[in-house]
Amino acid sequence: MLVSGQQKLDRMRDGRVIMIGAERVEDVTTHPAFKNGAQTIARLYDFKRDPSRRDLMSYEEDGERFSLHWLRCRTREDLQRRMGSLRLMAQATYGLVGRSPDHVAGTVTGLAMNVALLDKLRDGFGRNLLAYYEYARKNDLYLTYAVTPPSGIKSKVIFAGETRDDPVLRVVREDAEGVVLSGMKMLATGAVYADEVWIGNLTAIAPEASAQSITCAIPLNTPGVSFWAREPFGRHRGQEADYPLSHRYDETDSVLVCDEAKVPWSRVFLHDNGEYSRRIYIESPANCYANHQSNVRFHAKMGLIVGLASRVAEANALGKVPAVRELLGRLAALEATIGGLVAGQIEAWENWPEGWATPNRRIMYAALNWCQEHHSEIIDILRTLIGGVPLQMPASIDVMGDPALRDRFERWWGTPSLNAARRLKLYKLAWDLTGSEFAGRHQLYEKFYAGTSQIVRNQSDREAPWELFHGIVDGLIDNVPDGV
Ligand SMILES: Cc1cc2nc3c(=O)[nH]c(=O)nc-3n(C[C@H](O)[C@H](O)[C@H](O)COP(=O)(O)OP(=O)(O)OC[C@H]3O[C@@H](n4cnc5c(N)ncnc54)[C@H](O)[C@@H]3O)c2cc1C
Repeated sequence: MLVSGQQKLDRMRDGRVIMIGAERVEDVTTHPAFKNGAQTIARLYDFKRDPSRRDLMSYEEDGERFSLHWLRCRTREDLQRRMGSLRLMAQATYGLVGRSPDHVAGTVTGLAMNVALLDKLRDGFGRNLLAYYEYARKNDLYLTYAVTPPSGIKSKVIFAGETRDDPVLRVVREDAEGVVLSGMKMLATGAVYADEVWIGNLTAIAPEASAQSITCAIPLNTPGVSFWAREPFGRHRGQEADYPLSHRYDETDSVLVCDEAKVPWSRVFLHDNGEYSRRIYIESPANCYANHQSNVRFHAKMGLIVGLASRVAEANALGKVPAVRELLGRLAALEATIGGLVAGQIEAWENWPEGWATPNRRIMYAALNWCQEHHSEIIDILRTLIGGVPLQMPASIDVMGDPALRDRFERWWGTPSLNAARRLKLYKLAWDLTGSEFAGRHQLYEKFYAGTSQIVRNQSDREAPWELFHGIVDGLIDNVPDGV
């Protein structure tokens, strides 16, 4: 089934508990802080359901249609097709919505390609996962995930001797029906708009902390579950032109808080296994499918950044200055690099696990590292090109509503190449990508969404063919004669 935007909005009104500070949000689709974001997600659902994109965004299996991000790929062509749908989805939001409906779907789809792994841990977990995969794709669910323990309290050892409550989400009880969860987990991006939250661990946890290893999925309106949102960037903002990105593309980040939340066994995919709670994502294509989407999304964002840099250079009448062209050339080279890294993942695809197709893992992790290393630098090049112009724009485009102010604004703020209103919109866009709270959040997002640099580089370390590399060195040394 392909869900419409309106159906998606209706699902957001399910009694979920979303907090903005002490305020309980009654309806995210009408609340000023979230309604524009809700519309953005609804538009994505309509976008992928549009008949003109039928074969680009969905596939048929046993007479039913599903969104392409749920496709378990068998061939290179499958991967290519799936990647095409990720690209269209990312371009539809300029790469600014990281956890769009195709991100966590990749995690579940990847796990569904190696359910034997889960069954090996406990009989029935693999079956649960497969049933959940079927349920999620059949209902075109939008999933978010909270797979990181709360910052600063990841290891009890650091806090040995402390007497505080342990806030890390864990199983506090279990019975014949299922498990009961209490504690918190960060940082469920997109939770405000999603249908369900996946709970698990993308970072390693100590074997003795096995109660924290719980891996499950629950509807957002599960009793005892609430989401504590950070400051939403859409509220208190004037007109769309003043903060064009904050206005529409704030995907939101929230801490997941569970207070005696019940999860039936049918929704449990791993329990009491600290060691494997992270490994399941690596020993199946889960991590790769999800982060392949992140790479595709970053490439789409680069298109916006490079285009904006060039337009700003033109608007500043610097478009022909050789030093500025060099900077633009550098940005264009960086954009092509990530494009190549994404294409390479398909070109060098892996027949792994046996019988399935997965984007090349080493290239995917390399791209993840590349994005993490370069995003701040890329934004800084854009910031340099913009100069101080965003701050020379009036606080709001509402000056256009006052005839006297408008007259002066149009005469003095316009340039031969750009009228005043368009110039304001250009620089407000640039500010929202480089200087606003929305921009600051994106800086953090690109640094941390896949974990810290230690975690991201550890993936490349693990996947590297060290024996091959050592063989090169050893072969060279072997051919160097011993001294006489
Ligand atoms: C905008 C945003 C969205 C997010 N969305 C999600 C989401 O959807 N789902 C989810 O589960 N999580 C999400 N996260 C959380 C993300 O996974 C974590 O932020 C990330 O794993 C880093 O953890 P931390 O923030 O606790 O930082 P920490 O692990 O506390 O690290 C803080 C700093 O210390 C450094 N550091 C840590 N350990 C070492 C070490 N051993 N040696 C040297 N330096 C070290 C790190 O490099 C980093 O610079 C999101 C985070 C952000 C910022």
